[in-house]
Amino acid sequence: MMPLGTVPFGSFVKNVPNGTVPNGIFFYLCNMIPFLSLKEVTELHGAEIEEAVKRVVSSGWYLQGAENERFEADYAQFIGSKYCVGCANGLDALIWIFRAYIELGVMKPGDEVIVPANTYIATILSITENELKPVLVEPKADTLQIDDSKIEEAITPKTRAVCIVHLYGRNAYTDRIGEICRKYGLKLVEDNAQAHGCICADGRKTGSIGDASGHSFYPGKNLGALGDGGAVITNDPDLAAAVRTLANYGSSAKYVFKYMGRNSRLDEIQAAVLDVKLKHLEADNAHRQKVAAMYYEGLRNPLISLPECLPDAQNVYHLFPILVSENKRDELQSYLKENGIETLIHYPIPPHKQECYATEEWNRSQLNLPITEKLAAQELSLPIGPTISADNINYIIDTINRFR
Ligand SMILES: *Cc1c(COP(=O)(O)O)cnc(C)c1O
Repeated sequence: MMPLGTVPFGSFVKNVPNGTVPNGIFFYLCNMIPFLSLKEVTELHGAEIEEAVKRVVSSGWYLQGAENERFEADYAQFIGSKYCVGCANGLDALIWIFRAYIELGVMKPGDEVIVPANTYIATILSITENELKPVLVEPKADTLQIDDSKIEEAITPKTRAVCIVHLYGRNAYTDRIGEICRKYGLKLVEDNAQAHGCICADGRKTGSIGDASGHSFYPGKNLGALGDGGAVITNDPDLAAAVRTLANYGSSAKYVFKYMGRNSRLDEIQAAVLDVKLKHLEADNAHRQKVAAMYYEGLRNPLISLPECLPDAQNVYHLFPILVSENKRDELQSYLKENGIETLIHYPIPPHKQECYATEEWNRSQLNLPITEKLAAQELSLPIGPTISADNINYIIDTINRFR
């Protein structure tokens, strides 16, 4: 157990008199610095959220109503695109984009989608769910974003789309990606589940750059609901209409079914909550940006490196990943836990190593991904969010800098 010494714990241990925390275990039992306190995140705008929920409860209208309409209009405007279609969750948003392209005849099962290998499984599931084939491309070792110099060599006659992921709330788009998509006539799909409000180098918001983007409102995301939620953003009216139809049983008019869809709707309570939280998103993101700046400024440990950002982007730091060398990641994680700091790993097993993809086809074609695999062994995500205090960040920085 590491001795903690004097830490500014009065600021984050409630109902305990100020003083010195005697040791790690005392601190641990008393109060962890959580990875993210959803309770605090909700309380930050609690009164407004409760008012919005009450309004929906007493309205008697719970699906496909004024709250969805308002949130969709506000979120489309915020991202900077024409259409927003709410749906049940972020995975469905991505599934509906590819499914709509299939229904519209732009893609067919067996076609290929280029996608970063180091993404959350949902990105890959949305492709395989539609019987499309994900073609995994390595990230750059310094930015952890898709390596745009490796996209062109992954293109075959079957390639129909490039799906980029703004991983960790950082812009992944480069002009080169846009040029490749134009040159080969590929759709550009963005997984914007982690990057609400992120701005790329030319000033556009991520989620408005490609042909369509999928958004998640999972509670822990930068724009999070009090349950599941998701949305598709696009400027393409046909795509928007197909997604809206698919997410409502495939119903184009009452009791008329154009596609074999599913029930994948965003409910009115979540839409009302999201509309409240959208108003505060930029302030919440600004807090994350301050936290990230403190980490970049303060973290100094030879065992740790910090991923770089792409030039000129304004990132929203959904997560704060660090890379720990010499197989010391798990050791650092337990050391931080002993010192009252909760961390997570994003992600410990890359998609191509998952049991669900343990098929011969995958094993033959997609096993040479050393950067992705190294990343899975070295990544550790530090606490970050719209409510974490400067004292806590300084304490986390000091604790990490003392690690040997
Ligand atoms: C969270 C997430 C999703 C899926 O969102 P859900 O709302 O949980 O279905 C997809 N892609 C990425 C990169 C995510 O982080």
